[in-house]
Amino acid sequence: MLLKEIQDKLLPNLKKYFGYDSFKDQQQIIIESVLSKKDNLVIMPTGGGKSICFQLPALLFDGLTLVISPLIALMKDQVDGLNANGIAADFFNSSQENFERGAIFDKVANKEIKLLYVAPESLGLLADILTEEFISCIAIDEAHCISSWGHDFRPSYQQLGFLKQQLPNTPIIALTATADKATRKDILEQLNIPKATQFLSSFDRKNIELEVRPANDRISQIIKFINKKPNEAGIIYCLSRKSTEQLAAKLKQNGINAKSYHAGLNFLERTKTQENFIYDKVQVICATIAFGMGIDKSNVRWVIHYNMPKNIEGYYQEIGRCGRDDLKANAILFHSYSDVIQLRKFASGASNEDVQIAKLERMKQFSEATTCRRKILLSYFGELLATNCGNCDVCKNPPQFFNGTIIAQKALSVISRLNGTEATGTVIDVLRGAHNATILDKGYDTLKSHGIGHDISWRDWQQYLIQLINQGYCEIAFHKNNALRLTDFSKKVLFENEKVYLTTPVDYQEQVTIQKEKKVTNAKKDSLFERLRKLRHKISLEENIPAYLVFSDATLKEMEKARPMCEADLLEISGVGQRKLEVYGDEFIAEIVSFMGNKIKKTKKEDTHLVTYEFYNDGFSIDEIAEKRNLKSTTIFSHLAKLYTDGKDIDIYKFVTKDEIDKVRKAKSALENPPALKPYFDHFNGEIEYFKIRLALSIIEMEG
Ligand code: ADP
Ligand code: ZN
Repeated sequence: MLLKEIQDKLLPNLKKYFGYDSFKDQQQIIIESVLSKKDNLVIMPTGGGKSICFQLPALLFDGLTLVISPLIALMKDQVDGLNANGIAADFFNSSQENFERGAIFDKVANKEIKLLYVAPESLGLLADILTEEFISCIAIDEAHCISSWGHDFRPSYQQLGFLKQQLPNTPIIALTATADKATRKDILEQLNIPKATQFLSSFDRKNIELEVRPANDRISQIIKFINKKPNEAGIIYCLSRKSTEQLAAKLKQNGINAKSYHAGLNFLERTKTQENFIYDKVQVICATIAFGMGIDKSNVRWVIHYNMPKNIEGYYQEIGRCGRDDLKANAILFHSYSDVIQLRKFASGASNEDVQIAKLERMKQFSEATTCRRKILLSYFGELLATNCGNCDVCKNPPQFFNGTIIAQKALSVISRLNGTEATGTVIDVLRGAHNATILDKGYDTLKSHGIGHDISWRDWQQYLIQLINQGYCEIAFHKNNALRLTDFSKKVLFENEKVYLTTPVDYQEQVTIQKEKKVTNAKKDSLFERLRKLRHKISLEENIPAYLVFSDATLKEMEKARPMCEADLLEISGVGQRKLEVYGDEFIAEIVSFMGNKIKKTKKEDTHLVTYEFYNDGFSIDEIAEKRNLKSTTIFSHLAKLYTDGKDIDIYKFVTKDEIDKVRKAKSALENPPALKPYFDHFNGEIEYFKIRLALSIIEMEG
């Protein structure tokens, strides 16, 4: 059991150093377990909040917490983030000079730093301090890298088993976002921590909106999507290096600040691109899956899959990179059969071909689902959702089914006439009655069914065929040039009059434009959020740290809402800890005060009560409004009285009782409607305050 004394320090330290008021999910019990010196394995989705599970205990341990992390390039950001919160931390790597390393050793020996980040390859250089005298805890980040099962296997991770042998009493906390059992077992065995407590968190990331769209015309869909979000960072995952480059070029032509990233670029270029993205200097990264591990940038607002991923694990890890700050984020996947065909090709011949194909099949099922997508995703990770999520495209726009039997019959009869030898494109050409070279060469224009589907557009046919495939009424012969052919089900439709239900194809282009118009009217260019974002950017450049490390989007949003104009109020905001208050507090408060000042200045004197009304609607109390507006409470009450008489929605009975109103009404006639408040006040011997008298009079006036 953890000492109560230590337990009592958890929340205050969480607020002081990280600025948060409460723990997320299992963070607290994990932290308590670490502090009671047990070994732990933490499995949490990307963005779940793993870092605090070892960073907070590090503050309370006497000695050093060693953090083993695979990516040297990202250690600096992690250390910068800690330093920005007033936590002494450093990183150690092989590129540092001897004197720099010496300085770090000195700091460790003098207990001047709490956390030290190191890559496994450099552990050998740390022999001098790798003793229980100095080390209080060892955190192993991205622990799945130890397992050759996983996709991020790093041989250097496999030597980490010596740590437990050398420091048997030092607690180890291993962390990963990969949940599968084989990997978990591997981690425990190889790290020599068989008895570690395992914490498996929910994999649900509710704030990420899930959406799957057909891949037609995806570039213009993407451009429209990004144009709606001019300042929002995002990642687009592509299957091939070439397509990352082509897509980035295309986006650039359209004025979007995009860069490509893949393993074929040289190290310097990759590092630069990654850094520019992290520092908000590049808005969009078009990348292969080589990009993303360990990037903690909390303000990635969206992830697009230009191509379908190989499996659900990969997909989930990739979309997990957006919305780490818990604010609304978007994941859009473009689904096409040519991707499925391509991925099948990649898998064929692999030693575990069956497994890969099965995983691809699950991915495909997810893409084609007509039920809540989050349910499908989470069930893949063994988690069951009781209700539909409400935040996926299927939940938001449940498919409208109609009787599509005739459409199905037309398609299937063409496939039948073509003897199952032609792929989707030609099938649609025949349906639509095309007269192109292929059709004429092969004499398909003489088929009886040539042109029977001319009234349906090419794109709609494509979507109908996909639906027919999904429902098993026809299938793709992957090994025969992807020809469409009939199945046992087809016969029921063609000869037994079985009814087929299809859904109306969605026109994404149109949907996008409608949303765009809505958005433009909403987008307040000179909103407080925009101003705070600009200030954050300026500070980020001055201090040379990523903007999200100054304050997260979530923290700025909260500031926008609460409009803190003094230090005490600013400290109430989630994400504002002691150090950030001291270092950035003044600038942010000044920005908010100036914003509010402008707003009030712009207001005509006779409209001042309307400013009060805005604050009132935002839920501020009378005293708070008075403080923010630098006015007396009585003035605010007089605004409320005016607003009420003007017919605005004010819950005035919150401030004055019916009984008091009655008394004022009687006094009014007894005193013969005096022109001022003082006669009332004196009449009640000061027992009813001025503001109540004023409010009561407004109500009486309203009632006539
Ligand atoms: P992971 O390493 O699991 O991907 P992080 O540790 O980077 O996740 O945390 C994800 C985000 O959640 C970060 O922006 C972090 O600051 C934020 N966060 C972590 N813990 C809390 C908390 N208790 N309250 C609010 N935000 C938190
Ligand atoms: Zn859903």
